[in-house]
Amino acid sequence: MAMLEVKNLDVHYGVIQGVRDVSFEVNQGEVVSLIGANGAGKTSILRTISGLVRPSNGTITFEGQEIQKTPAQKIVASGLSQVPEGRHVFPGLSVLENLEMGAFLRKNREENAQNLKHVFQRFPRLEERKTQDAATLSGGEQQMLAMGRALMSQPKLLLLDEPSMGLAPIFIQEIFEIIKDIQKQGTTVLLIEQNANMALSIADRGYVLETGKVILSGTGQELLASDEVRKAYLGG
Ligand code: ATP
Repeated sequence: MAMLEVKNLDVHYGVIQGVRDVSFEVNQGEVVSLIGANGAGKTSILRTISGLVRPSNGTITFEGQEIQKTPAQKIVASGLSQVPEGRHVFPGLSVLENLEMGAFLRKNREENAQNLKHVFQRFPRLEERKTQDAATLSGGEQQMLAMGRALMSQPKLLLLDEPSMGLAPIFIQEIFEIIKDIQKQGTTVLLIEQNANMALSIADRGYVLETGKVILSGTGQELLASDEVRKAYLGG
């Protein structure tokens, strides 16, 4: 059984249909990438999985439970955590306070301290800056903080919305290395990206979205090698 199974998903915004009959799955331990151009429906799919948008049709099953009607907070508590597009760190709060917000559903102080230790091991730069206002971090550091905050809830499945957006190439490289590392530590990852090259390079499997529909799927390597993907997303 897949860890996450999305079946025949439709999302409407009034008369606009953002997602059309989308089905895909994520197995335990995988990195799965959804790629597609602006407006292809990637963010809508992620927000629907995390309970922020309700589908007009279809089912989302996480570890055997249908969650398409479950409140967002309960979904997080069940082990699924989203890092939103544009990071959304809390300005006016320190790096440390931002990380603590990620653990607000977890009441076990010892576990929280342990998780914080792991996050600082993975992102030493955050530890160096733990008392700094999150708003003053660079874009790449804010992305790390948003990922660290999501990891504080010890998710089984991490949803990443365009982690490379707006980042300098050196940070992009680093963020993707961190995603591979997160996978190695046992967290399953669903990644959505416009940076098809990077996203497919680190993916076990991927899906290509166009105008709300899945038009192609395969292993990361198969998609990277496909003529269609190369022409449309990788500049020939
Ligand atoms: P981007 O990379 O630009 O975020 P995307 O692939 O994530 O694009 P979505 O943001 O999911 O795509 O958008 C899919 C479609 O749904 C688009 O046509 C978009 O205009 C529409 N849409 C998204 N959110 C809303 C909304 N709140 N109200 C109306 N239409 C929306």
